[in-house]
Amino acid sequence: MASSTIIDLDRLSLSHGEGTRLDVPVPLGSLELGGEDYTLDPDPVAARLDVSRPTRGYAFRLRFPISAAGPCMRCLEPARLEAEVDAREVDQRDIEDEELHSPYVGREGQELDLGRWAHDAAVLALPSRILCRPDCAGLCPVCGESLNDADPADHEHESVPDPRWAKLNELKRD
Ligand SMILES: [Zn+2]
Ligand SMILES: [Zn+2]
Repeated sequence: MASSTIIDLDRLSLSHGEGTRLDVPVPLGSLELGGEDYTLDPDPVAARLDVSRPTRGYAFRLRFPISAAGPCMRCLEPARLEAEVDAREVDQRDIEDEELHSPYVGREGQELDLGRWAHDAAVLALPSRILCRPDCAGLCPVCGESLNDADPADHEHESVPDPRWAKLNELKRD
């Protein structure tokens, strides 16, 4: 689960004003969303990392497609989701502004924790509700069976006529 893909920024030897593009396989393992595990396909993901070195610090852009598979959050049937990750980070250590310090850059601004960033970016790119289909009807609250493709008449549990009401109706009619 814990993946560690570290990019050594010093080894890229970028001068200010330069940039480079890296294609890096990043193993992410499964993602936990809403208490359920979703597996990624493919894993490792094929991440494309753009690193540039403006006048100060570094700027990063991370892109990769993801496909996650796991249980539908409503009916528990298998669900699959596709998303495109496109995330950016800047890191300017020499400025005293926390906003400009990337949480994924460590070791005095020399290392980018690409594994952790890719994991977080993948979770953010996926919708908070993963459904087998957008209009998934979920489970019947009475009998627990899936309501997808079910005949609604099979789940009208509450509308079974109560014999006492039938009796009352007879009385009213008199
Ligand atoms: Zn469903
Ligand atoms: Zn039912």
